[in-house]
Amino acid sequence: MTKDDIGSEPLDPTGTGFAALGLHDALARATAALGYEEPTAIQRESIPPLLAGRDVLGQAATGTGKTAAFALPMLHHIGTSPDERRPVRGLILVPTRELAMQVAEAVHKYGRLLGTNVLPIYGGQSLQQQLRALKRGVDVVVATPGRALDHIRRGTLELGGVTFLVLDEADEMLDMGFADELEAIVAAVPTDRQTALFSATLAPRIRSISKRYLRDPALVTIANETAAPGKKPRIREVAYVVQRAHKAAALARVIDMESPTSAIVFCRTRTEVDELTETLGGRGYQAEAIHGGLSQEQRDRVLRRFRDGTSEILVATDVAARGLDIEHLSHVVNFDVPSSPDAYVHRIGRTGRAGREGVAITLAEAREHRLLRNIEQHTKRKISIESVPTAHDLRARRLELTQSALEDALESGGFEKYRAIVEALGTDHDILDVAAAAVMLADQTRDGGEKDDIDIPAVAVAQERPGFLQRADRKPTRTRMSGDVAKIWIGLGRLAGIRPADLVGAIANEARMTSRDIGAIDIADRFSLVEVPAATVDNIITALRGTTIRGQKVSIRRDRGATKG
Ligand code: AMP
Repeated sequence: MTKDDIGSEPLDPTGTGFAALGLHDALARATAALGYEEPTAIQRESIPPLLAGRDVLGQAATGTGKTAAFALPMLHHIGTSPDERRPVRGLILVPTRELAMQVAEAVHKYGRLLGTNVLPIYGGQSLQQQLRALKRGVDVVVATPGRALDHIRRGTLELGGVTFLVLDEADEMLDMGFADELEAIVAAVPTDRQTALFSATLAPRIRSISKRYLRDPALVTIANETAAPGKKPRIREVAYVVQRAHKAAALARVIDMESPTSAIVFCRTRTEVDELTETLGGRGYQAEAIHGGLSQEQRDRVLRRFRDGTSEILVATDVAARGLDIEHLSHVVNFDVPSSPDAYVHRIGRTGRAGREGVAITLAEAREHRLLRNIEQHTKRKISIESVPTAHDLRARRLELTQSALEDALESGGFEKYRAIVEALGTDHDILDVAAAAVMLADQTRDGGEKDDIDIPAVAVAQERPGFLQRADRKPTRTRMSGDVAKIWIGLGRLAGIRPADLVGAIANEARMTSRDIGAIDIADRFSLVEVPAATVDNIITALRGTTIRGQKVSIRRDRGATKG
């Protein structure tokens, strides 16, 4: 890389990528404050039609930035009302309580400068608390269908003022058996509303509900053109699935294991870039941040240090990296799964250039697994999912490096003056022991030892193929039971690595039942259904509540007919 290679594309320190879409200034400023430098693909394509008042049918999975794609236009349209007793104007339906909390938090952050009031509503939370909040006046409700319908039927959720309706993860809501609830809820919303429907797939049943609920929608899918032909780069593509809390530690392990000569770590936001640079620095790496908030002078300084090897890792946003024409990198690391396959291809194209070998590493959370599959389908290449190196792997790797350094030294000579020491030690000790002790010392001084010895829990991910590329196969394992049976719903599924044996094991152990008492098991992407004798349901639910399966907290309830959402 030479100085001339470094572009000086003007950056956008105020995050006006969003303002340019025509969003209210308070929203553009909120995204800038969150460290977003530019809209993601789904945002670029969904926001304009939604701002123009059109309905949108969007195909996008979690991790693509879809929440902002519908939340920003919703907030733009509804703003806030000066009215004390304001009616609910935005309604977002989501399949699970986790998503309800997550989306509500996102809407709150985006609408902070507008003063928008958001309320999540889901089952399992006190109705009274929700009622009090609804009475105080709420602009946007984010709800699971079961609980939303509860409130509608009690007359505690008035939807007559809703002007903007979102069905988020619609495929998942249908999978969970919420079709009837959706129908009833949509019927309670005025027909002259604007509607956005997002789904990870555009299966026929999604198209069919979108025909009923949307009016002449703009269809938005993330571009899926095939990878450009040409010289095939030699890139090893690896992903590690880790919990968010362990990402920085996992990254450190991976860096230690790979010992990159020059690496870029991509983050989504400026904030993330700054935080990660700080964390890596604290762990002893020479890492430098580069994002759209830096002045040209700061940027040049960072690049100079990277070029001359003073720093070994650049932590960057896409926008900041775009201006740099870096000749070759040994490693590209995605700290999060990129928001679109195109972004992935673009990022990893910075390694493996000119026939050299490169490594592309992606850290993913279990819920982002589907995005990895999208990328594979797009690139027609496999991303190998590996476990984060353990402290033991690192020690083995360090020893390998020590050994090869010793081999180099033996080849290049220059150690004659040390022979006398070896001879002296050899009079009292076995000469092999002398050498082994020297190797030990050399190994211990290498790299200053492990940076952490903590356990990074493996996140199990189902890897069967080719079935995994499809939606959950709903063919039940085990046989159906006869007699009075009921189903329980467990909020962990294939994406959490759940297998039938895990469910049987947990129920058998916690509820003291035998596996013969457990009937058919359906495992979907995000939840599982287990058939059990009706009389045992309450006992099982009590026994499993608060326990974990495969290290993850279990949410559990009686399936359908009883409380939902
Ligand atoms: P979502 O797909 O909505 O769950 O968003 C995934 C993640 O991307 C969230 O952590 C968002 O905060 C983040 N995000 C959304 N839009 C952007 C953007 N334009 N730039 C950077 N990060 C974003």
